[in-house]
Amino acid sequence: MDNRQIVLESLPQGKLSPDHFRLQTAPRPQPEDGQVLVRTRYISLDAANRAWMQGATYRSALQAGDVMAGGAVAEVVESRAEGLKPGDLVFADTGWQDYAAVKAAGLSKLPDLQPLTHLISVYGVAGLTAYFGLIECGRPQAGETVVVSAAAGSVGSIAGQIARLKGCRVVGIAGGAEKCDWLKSELGFDEAVDYKAGDVRRALRAACPQGIDVYFDNVGGEIFEAALFGMNNFGRIACCGAVSQYDGAAPSHGPRGVPGLIVTKRLGVRGFIVSDFYDRTDIALAELRGWVESGALKVQEDVIEGLENTPAALVGLLAGENRGKRMVKVV
Ligand code: NAP
Repeated sequence: MDNRQIVLESLPQGKLSPDHFRLQTAPRPQPEDGQVLVRTRYISLDAANRAWMQGATYRSALQAGDVMAGGAVAEVVESRAEGLKPGDLVFADTGWQDYAAVKAAGLSKLPDLQPLTHLISVYGVAGLTAYFGLIECGRPQAGETVVVSAAAGSVGSIAGQIARLKGCRVVGIAGGAEKCDWLKSELGFDEAVDYKAGDVRRALRAACPQGIDVYFDNVGGEIFEAALFGMNNFGRIACCGAVSQYDGAAPSHGPRGVPGLIVTKRLGVRGFIVSDFYDRTDIALAELRGWVESGALKVQEDVIEGLENTPAALVGLLAGENRGKRMVKVV
C-alpha cells in the first residue's frame, strides 16, 4: 500500500533542474469524511508549475519539502463522499504522487471519453484557457490578424487554431524552424516567427503586414514588447502567462512601451485565469468537441511515461522540448 511521491526538495534560485526534486515512498493516505482517495492516472505538466515556486499566484507558493503540486486526471478508488464512487474519473490537484486523499467538494465527475488524454489537453485546462482567453479577452473578428506566442505549446497550439477557425489570419511565435514549419504545415497557421532566429519585432512586422489586432501572450518579456510595437489601434492583448519569466531570477527591466504604447494605441490589455470563465465551460466544451470530432482542430499531445520522470519532463517543457500538451502517464 505504498505511495510514491515526488517532493520539491529545494526551491530553485536559477533554472529548475531534476536535482531540485526527490522521490520518496510514504504510506497510502486514508480518506476522511467528505474526501475521496484517488489514484493518479495522467499528471498535467504546466509552465505554471514553475511559477508556483516563485511566490504566491492564484494559489499559495510552494515550499521546500512539499509534495510537488499539480493537477491530474485521477480515478476514485475509495469514496467517503456523496456523488463519487470507485471508478469515477475526476480532475484534481493530486500532486505528483500515486495516491491522494482529496476533498470531494468542487470535484466533478469527468466524462469517460477516449482517448483519456484529451481530458488533460483539449477538454482540460489547456483547451479551456485557449478558448476563453482568445474568445473572451482577444475578441477576434474574422479577417483580423491574431498573433500567438508559445504557439507550438499546449495552450498556444489550440488558441491559434481557434483563431483560424474564427476566420482570422494567424501568426505563431515559437522556438526553432522545425516547430515553425509544423505550425504552418500541420496546424494551418498562416505564418510563423522563430523567436530564436533574431529580431522578433522585425520578423513580426514582416509576418503581419496589416499589423496585429489580437495578441495572445503566453510568454511576456521581450516578445510581449515586440508584439506591443506591432499592435493596431484598438487592438486587444490577452495576457495568459509569462513563461519567459518563470525559470530564473526576476527580470531586471520591464518591457518598453508600457504604458506609452498601450495608451496611444488605445489597447485593451486583459489578464485572465481560466477559472474566471468556468460558468461557461459547457459552451466551450461543446464547440471544442465539434471542432475536434470534425477534424477541424488537431490535438497534439506529448505523453511521457512514469511518475519518476515527471521532474525531467517539467524541466524539458520549460526548455521547449514539448509540442502540444505535455503530460505524464502514471498508470
Ligand atoms: P506550453 O506552452 O505547452 O510549454 C511552454 C512553452 O513555452 C515551451 O514549449 C517553449 O516553447 C515556450 N518557452 C519557454 N521559454 C520561453 C521563452 N523564454 N520565450 C518564449 N517561449 C518560451 O506550456 P503551458 O503550460 O501550456 O503554458 C503556456 C502559457 O499558458 C504559460 O504562460 C502558462 O502560464 C499559461 N497558462 C495560463 C493559464 C491561465 O489561466 N491564465 C492556464 C494555463 C496556462 P518554444 O520551443 O517555442 O520556446
